[in-house]
Amino acid sequence: MNYDSPAEIKKVLDDIHVTLKKKWGQNFLVNPGAREKIIEFIKPGKGDVIWEIGPGLGAMTEPLLKTGATIIAFEIDWGMIRYLNRVFSSYPAFSIVQGDVVKTWKTAYKDCGKPDKVMGNLPYASASAIITSFVIDGFVPDAFIFTVQRELALRMAALPGTKSYSSFSILFQSAFTIKERQDIKPGSFYPKPEVVSSIISAVPSLHVPDTSIRDFFFHIVRTGFLSRRKTLLNNLLSDKDLKTYPPRMLENAIGQAGFHRNTRAEELKGEDFIRLAKLLQKLK
Ligand code: SAM
Repeated sequence: MNYDSPAEIKKVLDDIHVTLKKKWGQNFLVNPGAREKIIEFIKPGKGDVIWEIGPGLGAMTEPLLKTGATIIAFEIDWGMIRYLNRVFSSYPAFSIVQGDVVKTWKTAYKDCGKPDKVMGNLPYASASAIITSFVIDGFVPDAFIFTVQRELALRMAALPGTKSYSSFSILFQSAFTIKERQDIKPGSFYPKPEVVSSIISAVPSLHVPDTSIRDFFFHIVRTGFLSRRKTLLNNLLSDKDLKTYPPRMLENAIGQAGFHRNTRAEELKGEDFIRLAKLLQKLK
């Protein structure tokens, strides 16, 4: 099919009786230049195993399969799954995992192993939940190429003390470092969304917390950001899971980690939180 043509996409959707669902962020990439840019970021090679999250009608799947890559696609919409299975049936290197990727990827990982690359034009509403589910389970492929809302891309790369910096920034940066970013206009999609998007490519980060500390580190980060108006100490003090620490001990740990008792979470880097989590773990 002609993936550049909204009219053709509309016709295919009618033919396969699929109505678009907003909650699944079904905006198709109709700009061939943006698709080429994604391929440029992915640099697919023959034999690469690539996971594609949300293939839709296959606008990215087709050029990827043509490079000789093996594609494992994760799609939630049954109408689209049926369509994809039909149009790509001649490619033995194509398979689909059906359902919500947040629930299905772990089984796919167990069955098929770690992919070389993970890519996707992610649904806006669940992009951060999908990425978070990878990071909290320690799934860090060597290359990660996603199209997301620009606001989320800015959070992924944000530095301490800036407006976009959040617990998601620390979580993302504890696993990945953004390498490249290219913004794409709303008109690159059909239907046209209200927001600007960004294509990002990311590689594994150098500041990864070790597995013994990972869950606790994520907990401390999330708790630290609970209320932006509060200090890090006050946010930690208000958390029921940290009640086992006497207030004085939490305050001392913050001091030992090198911060002031009035320090706020948004002033700290991921490494600072790793240091604090290690100290608290030792005191347990
Ligand atoms: N890749 C196509 C393109 O670029 O034209 C479609 C991208 S569209 C933004 C997002 C796709 O993700 C849709 O096909 C949607 O059905 C699928 N999707 C949404 N939520 C999903 C989820 N939780 N798990 C798997 N696929 C999902």
